[in-house]
Amino acid sequence: MENKILLTEQEIPRFYYNIMADMPNKPLPPLHPGTKQPITPDLLEPLFPRDLILQEVSTERYIEIPREVREIYAKYRPSPLFRARGLEKMLDTPARIYYKYEGVSPAGSHKPNTAIAQAFYSYVSGAKRIVTETGAGQWGTALAYACQKFGLECEVYMVRVSYDQKPYRKIMMNTFDASVYPSPSDRTEFGRRVLAENPDSSGSLGIAISEAIERALQDPQAHYALGSVLNHVLLHQTIIGQEAIIQMEKAGDQPDIVVAPFGGGSNFAGIAFPFLHKNFSEKQNIRCIAVEPTSCPKLTRGEFRYDFGDTAGMTPLLPMYTLGHDFMPPSIHAGGLRYHGAGVLVSQLLKDGLIDAVAKDQASCFKAGLDFIKAEGIIPAPEATHAIATVIDEAMKCKEEGTEKTILFNLCGHGYFDMASYESYLSGELKDATISNEEISQSIASTNELQPQ
Ligand SMILES: *Cc1c(COP(=O)(O)O)cnc(C)c1O
Repeated sequence: MENKILLTEQEIPRFYYNIMADMPNKPLPPLHPGTKQPITPDLLEPLFPRDLILQEVSTERYIEIPREVREIYAKYRPSPLFRARGLEKMLDTPARIYYKYEGVSPAGSHKPNTAIAQAFYSYVSGAKRIVTETGAGQWGTALAYACQKFGLECEVYMVRVSYDQKPYRKIMMNTFDASVYPSPSDRTEFGRRVLAENPDSSGSLGIAISEAIERALQDPQAHYALGSVLNHVLLHQTIIGQEAIIQMEKAGDQPDIVVAPFGGGSNFAGIAFPFLHKNFSEKQNIRCIAVEPTSCPKLTRGEFRYDFGDTAGMTPLLPMYTLGHDFMPPSIHAGGLRYHGAGVLVSQLLKDGLIDAVAKDQASCFKAGLDFIKAEGIIPAPEATHAIATVIDEAMKCKEEGTEKTILFNLCGHGYFDMASYESYLSGELKDATISNEEISQSIASTNELQPQ
């Protein structure tokens, strides 16, 4: 009875899988907010290394992973795939449940998969530092780790509410020599503007992105890096699903359903895109489900349209599912899922009906998380509990229907720095905010003027 399916270092995939090559409808182009014309790559050059700009628009199916990047991956990859026998038993379900565990990385989540690649390309292009934002602190930790590997400086704008709720993530970034500032901060013009309007602002990813971009644009030796949403970020994460395919083969099984939590789309894409490749190339019918929080429901209640990726409106306009760039999600514990939009690739796939999305409230997610802890002994990141809640729903459906499905999910990070959020659930203090339709339509209406004619 094998519960843990491992691979050797030699089995680390050597290529990233680019879903752009196989999409029936290619995504619409990003637009310049002024001219509403497709942007040219040179506009991105002050912010990103050339290699990443090329990856952003590439339609090549496979893109080689540089040797230097694979060597650092080997520190924690291939990540293990577990059969969740404890959870199956607890649920008394005929479903077979597996999870890919990305919590084994140095940062404790899937984020180093792209941080290492991004730091490498910045390093070879001659940059001296990378500026970024972070929500719950997962991305900042991953980038701090990756920058330190290549001798780059790292400056992080951390969403205020997480900076206060999750001090250990900040300290972890400091141990990798990164400088961390709560956002909104007084270090940028945009941050000062937000603070002037609301000195108690709890911040948002959108605000932090604006601050980081502003800093990177001012400094010719700096690059900016994003931990989710963009095509090249999703690309780097496909190493997860490619490993999972080999591991599922070793287990002699094959998923009917693949589930992952959804913030901007990177860990979902990471596990799901290689399986969607099977749907495209082998006519399989694997159902991929993205799970978002009910408090930030862009996939299930947002609209597909052009919007800014940040709050200040400094990014190109992206065609995506969005709640409007100044949508301010309530301060929930799954900080990594508090983003107003969804990656362009995932948005197009959802629009074309090639993937599914569901929303889960915070309380049912923590309840599912606690079941998982008791069954499997790993404390999941609050983000990951969204996938677990959906997996349990699907497994219970199998039980009711007497069907034997195979379910795979991405346990994209551990929750060992999130104990305060478990405490607030256990002590009954956790509140869930509901968002009215009016609130959503108002905030989406603010993007009306951004739509191309
Ligand atoms: C960042 C993060 C997320 C959300 O981002 P995606 O790009 O949607 O993956 C989810 N879970 C964890 C553990 C994270 O660190």
